Amino acid sequence: TTKDIPIMVNDCSGKMGRAVAEAAVEAGLQLVPFCLTGPGFGGRVLNINNVEVHAHEASEKEEILDKVLDRYPDVIIADYTLPSAVNENAEFYSKRGVPFVMGTTGGDRNRLLKTVHDSGVYAVIAPQMGKQVVAFQAAMEIMAEQFPDAFKGYKLEVTESHQSSKVDTSGTARAVVASFNKLGLSFDAEQIKMVRDPEEQVTKMGVPEEHLKGHAFHTYSLSSADGLVTFQFQHNVCGRSIYAQGTVDAVLFLSNKIKESSEKKVYNMVDVLRGGSMR
Ligand code: NAD
Repeated sequence: TTKDIPIMVNDCSGKMGRAVAEAAVEAGLQLVPFCLTGPGFGGRVLNINNVEVHAHEASEKEEILDKVLDRYPDVIIADYTLPSAVNENAEFYSKRGVPFVMGTTGGDRNRLLKTVHDSGVYAVIAPQMGKQVVAFQAAMEIMAEQFPDAFKGYKLEVTESHQSSKVDTSGTARAVVASFNKLGLSFDAEQIKMVRDPEEQVTKMGVPEEHLKGHAFHTYSLSSADGLVTFQFQHNVCGRSIYAQGTVDAVLFLSNKIKESSEKKVYNMVDVLRGGSMR
């Protein structure tokens, strides 16, 4: 049962970490009462749905993981830290042979894959854990593969709105644009319109005010050269629950792969979707 699956969430004091830890408890997983945290946050005790989680800094990570592995040998780690910590954390988990779900974005992604491959540890790595968004992204990729140039001559407009703290363009929007390119639309990722102004987000994009600090609204508009035909694809996400839920699915998926002693060891969210064990 899910109760047999212990999950350690680094860092439960971060926004995504907390959301994942809460979703894990709600799904009946066993939340490990220890987590790793960033500089300056060690020694805190966080209450996550009545589980007291002790936060420890990286300097204590070896002893903490010893303790966790001793008490929870089947632990799976979920990592939502910072781009600057991605590679070091992955190397640490891999060296210690602990399976993990890496939700953190950034860092050196090639090095991350190599670390995991070389160590033979089980992992799900996905910069986008929203499984329905991943399914949409994959569907566009499949459409592009099967019907190349189907939209040749059409014009594309892409608008993406995120909390103003997000500086770069959305990786998901870039991936979808790559599929549209294969469908015959000439469009450069630089042409993606980024909306980061809260005023415009509320008035033009319809973002609820309470989600200005955490949302992902994407609209892809296609129109024929003569202007007589239009298509629009849209996915509007408020808050973090979609990513937290996807992370719990990824942990359950990984736990199954470990039990089956699967040959393949490094997975992404498309594998999780294909696994078909959605809750
Ligand atoms: P946040 O700033 O709220 O939390 C990050 C936490 O990591 C902080 O509490 C910090 O103290 C901690 N930290 C820093 N270095 C650490 C280390 N070496 N070990 C352990 N903890 C450390 O950020 P957030 O909004 O929770 O986002 C975290 C990451 O998740 C970002 O990279 C973000 O892009 C990514 N993200 C991914 C998805 C997805 O679907 N995969 C969705 C949302 C966010």
